[in-house]
Amino acid sequence: MKYWLYLAAKLLLSIGVVLGLEAALCAVYPAPPKPLPGYPPVKSLFLYDMPFTFLVFGTWLIGAGLFFLAFWDQRRRCRTCLRKLIMPVQRGSWGNMVVFGRPQTEWICAFGHGTLNTEDLQITGRQFPEWQPHDDDIWKELESVEQAQK
Ligand SMILES: [Zn+2]
Repeated sequence: MKYWLYLAAKLLLSIGVVLGLEAALCAVYPAPPKPLPGYPPVKSLFLYDMPFTFLVFGTWLIGAGLFFLAFWDQRRRCRTCLRKLIMPVQRGSWGNMVVFGRPQTEWICAFGHGTLNTEDLQITGRQFPEWQPHDDDIWKELESVEQAQK
């Protein structure tokens, strides 16, 4: 839940930045000239004034970039603590897929909340990263391995 709220907050912040830029643009840009007699007044310069229209498109492009950055940043965050995932580990093999499995990259939370497994090879369409949450007791796995070796 916290993970999705963080993404929503970043997207709302992006929308706020774009709306603020547009408001600043409307405040700074010079007013349109008075229309000739018999013509209706221009209510908005958008699509009537080319530089203003391009500036509005530029703000939308900035908004699209901020949306992209919000999603790009969110992909590599821990689902529990929202910190950046670290220590990428390559698994599998490109040359020996049958023996070692398909190539994957595994990221882990530094505080042991879970691992994110992303497929490096997308053969059968887009495969989304798989999040594996860990137990609160991160030593339990190591103890079980140690007991199995005895
Ligand atoms: Zn974490």
